[in-house]
Amino acid sequence: MKIFATIFLLIIIVVFGLYAMLYYSFNLSDPSHWLNQKYRNQVIKYPLLRNILRLHQVGDYRYEFVENNNKNLEIIIYQKDNHKLNPDTYAKVADQIYSLVKQPKQVVFTEKKLEESVNGIVDDDDLKKLANSYSLPKNNITYLKIFVLDEYTPIPTYAGIVNNANTIFLFTKPIASITGGRSPAAVETSTILHEFGHLLGAGHINKDNCIMSEKVENISGRPTAFMTTYCREDLEEIDNSLKPTVN
Ligand SMILES: [Zn+2]
Repeated sequence: MKIFATIFLLIIIVVFGLYAMLYYSFNLSDPSHWLNQKYRNQVIKYPLLRNILRLHQVGDYRYEFVENNNKNLEIIIYQKDNHKLNPDTYAKVADQIYSLVKQPKQVVFTEKKLEESVNGIVDDDDLKKLANSYSLPKNNITYLKIFVLDEYTPIPTYAGIVNNANTIFLFTKPIASITGGRSPAAVETSTILHEFGHLLGAGHINKDNCIMSEKVENISGRPTAFMTTYCREDLEEIDNSLKPTVN
């Protein structure tokens, strides 16, 4: 009997040790850790594993968005009455997201009111609190949240930012400063599509007139054109991030 107890205890120790190692590598250590580099892209394909290991960082829901068994995608916009997205933005964003992810039967937008007490001028702590304070129902829908805010204090030239797997923050102050005579819908659209590219695991590309250019996100570079469709290089970058790591 004693031998069984010992074996049982050993198994528990090994399983717990393995879990601790994976959890530490994925969540607490450097993103460039080899386990992260090699296996994260595989592990996040399985919602159960993703939940057990608590993988909810930028890019972790990429397969939720593209290989989601034909679920609907619902984009929830949290905004105040005096800071609303341009109505044209919705159709442009839906069109590009639909062409990219293909799987969702439908892309649905829902507008929700951002509480009046929320200050639109935010830092990283505020963003974390915001993302956690508006929880979503657990059902058969994939959600993308977009918060329309005023300004990101650590870098006021940022038009948008992401800090977890399914939330985009948009900042109207820098967007307004560059719209000039152009339609704000184009700037809102390029910013949302840029951040969505990050949620699909894509990084920046070195091409000014493409959505995934860093200048779309940080308006200090002031691009001369605002793309509302992904360019070929954007699509290549997104495609690569959806491929499993090979080596
Ligand atoms: Zn970016």
